[in-house]
Order: sequence, then C-alpha cells, then structure tokens
Amino acid sequence: MHTTGLAEIVRPRDLAEAVRLAAEGGEPLAGGTDLFVRLRKGVERPPFLVYIGDLPELRRISVGESKVEIGAAATHAEILASPAAARLPILRLALEAIASPAIRAMGTLGGNLANASPAGDGLIPLYLLGARVNLVGPDGERALAVEEFVLGPGKTALRPGEVIRSLDLPFPEGAPRAYFRKVGRRRALIIAIASLGALLWLRDGTIERARLALGSVAPTVVRPREVEQALVGRPLAPDALADLVEALSAATRPISDLRASAGYRRTVAGRLLLDLACTISPGG
Ligand SMILES: Cc1cc2nc3c(=O)[nH]c(=O)nc-3n(C[C@H](O)[C@H](O)[C@H](O)COP(=O)(O)OP(=O)(O)OC[C@H]3O[C@@H](n4cnc5c(N)ncnc54)[C@H](O)[C@@H]3O)c2cc1C
Repeated sequence: MHTTGLAEIVRPRDLAEAVRLAAEGGEPLAGGTDLFVRLRKGVERPPFLVYIGDLPELRRISVGESKVEIGAAATHAEILASPAAARLPILRLALEAIASPAIRAMGTLGGNLANASPAGDGLIPLYLLGARVNLVGPDGERALAVEEFVLGPGKTALRPGEVIRSLDLPFPEGAPRAYFRKVGRRRALIIAIASLGALLWLRDGTIERARLALGSVAPTVVRPREVEQALVGRPLAPDALADLVEALSAATRPISDLRASAGYRRTVAGRLLLDLACTISPGG
C-alpha cells in the first residue's frame, strides 16, 4: 500500500485482484490526470485507490484482421506510437489533440472514456468507429457499445466493481478520409468548446458515406445522423455543404459555462462543417 496524502493507493497483483478491490469500494486509478485533479479539489473521497496502470492485461494493444483491441490502461502516447494509430488515422488525429506530451504520456484511453466528459477528445474516434467497451467485474465479463456505455457528463454504465478491460475498434470498410478539429479558447492545453470528428467515404470528390461526431456541445458526444445522411451524394466543397451548417448546429444541445455560451458553441459546431470541407481535399 502507498499513500499520496490524498488517498491510499493499493497495487493489485493482477486484474482479478483489481476487480475484487474495486468491488470493495476502491476507485480505479490509471494515469491519474483526471482523478488527482478531482481528489485535490475535494469533490471526491474514495476510501482507497486501486492502481491499474501497470497491469499487463490492461496495457496490451493488438492489431487483428478486423479490429484493433486497446487495453484500457494503454496511454495516449503508447497508442500513438503503436501500429493501431497508423491503421486508424481518426484515432491518431484525436489523440494528438489531447493536452501536452506530458499528459499524453500519463493519461489513458480507458481513463478518458471512464471520465465520460463531453469534451473528451478520445471519445470522438470511439463513436466514429463504433467501438465496443469490454468490461470485467465481479459477475464476469460483458461488452457494451460506446453509446450505451456513456450515459452523461461523468456518468457511465460501469457497475460497482467493474473495470474497463479494453476497447475494440473495428476497422471501417474501405478507406475513409479522417478529420478532427477542436476549437478552444487557447492554443495550448485546450479543453474543447466544440469539436468535430468525421469519417468520409469519397468517390470522385462526392461524399458516398459520412460519419460525424460532435464533442462538447451536448451531455455526451453526438452522432448527428440526419446530417450524415444529408451529406451523401454532395460534392465535398464548402458551397455544397453551406445549407447543412444550421442542421449541424441544430443537432447540438450545448450548455453555457465559463469557457463559452451555448449560442457560441452551437454556431462554432455548425461552422466546423465548412472547415471539414476546406481541410479534406477531395482528391488527396
Ligand atoms: C492539464 C490537463 C489537460 C488535459 N487535456 C485534455 C485534453 O486536451 N483532452 C482530453 O480529452 N482530456 C484532457 N485531460 C483529461 C485527462 O488527461 C484525460 O481524460 C485522460 O485520458 C484520463 O486518463 P487517466 O488514465 O489519467 O485517468 P485517471 O485520472 O486515472 O482516471 C479517470 C477516471 O476514470 C476511472 N478509470 C480509469 N481507468 C479505468 C478503467 N480501466 N476502468 C474503470 N474506470 C477507470 C478512474 O477511476 C477515474 O474515475 C486533461 C487533463 C489535464 C490535467
């Protein structure tokens, strides 16, 4: 056992012991980049922490035929350096946008997901790729779609004692183009005011299929499916998408907070569609 002055930290020998300790009320600790902030603020007082960050079962990244499986305690930096990021450009773009090298070296994808922040950059590729969340708990294993797992800001479907084991990220069919942009108030270490990620399947400059995911503009990441549908058959050019800017704004349910007003978030989110059209070159 180890203590930080904020809470005791217990180091389980393996995943089974981690689950047992979590079931006794211990809160999983991975990179600590979110959790220690909350503990320091005093908004949370777990009886003890269960350090899962060095469990080999949670750190593996494997690239299979049809999917990548990423251990929940793999750090953003490890994922970025792995073949998984090379095979999934949307994952690379989103993880590169997280904070700074120091935070990326500590923070994990499992922690980003469990945190369930609408501004979590790592969630955007999970929604776009249709990720599955593999859980292990006192009653065994189960898997949920990411959309079933995230219930609201800071709220997930995790049951007491359950730990995220890994994430399955299926390879999309064909070779979609990937886009990710977040807008914030500063250039460095920004928390998104609004973000947009996209996978676009193009043929001769025309959109054949589209998946979009918006961050920071609703209680959870949003897939604006009506806009995805409306994009089909259109040329990828700002003029051709201009009438959908409002539809994208309308798909949001933002709040006003210290960083931005709801109206500003809504406007920015819509306009990111034009940025997407300017950023992805139809031919390249
Ligand atoms: C300065 C700063 C800048 C940041 N910038 C960004 C940013 O740009 N984009 C962004 O998305 N995030 C950002 N973050 C937030 C944070 O770094 C990420 O969310 C990170 O991925 C969290 O991972 P972690 O391993 O540190 O989580 P931890 O802090 O260890 O844990 C977070 C929560 O998840 C739970 N948890 C962790 N792993 C598991 C698991 N396997 N199973 C069940 N529960 C688990 C913990 O119990 C805890 O409640 C920033 C944080 C800081 C301090």
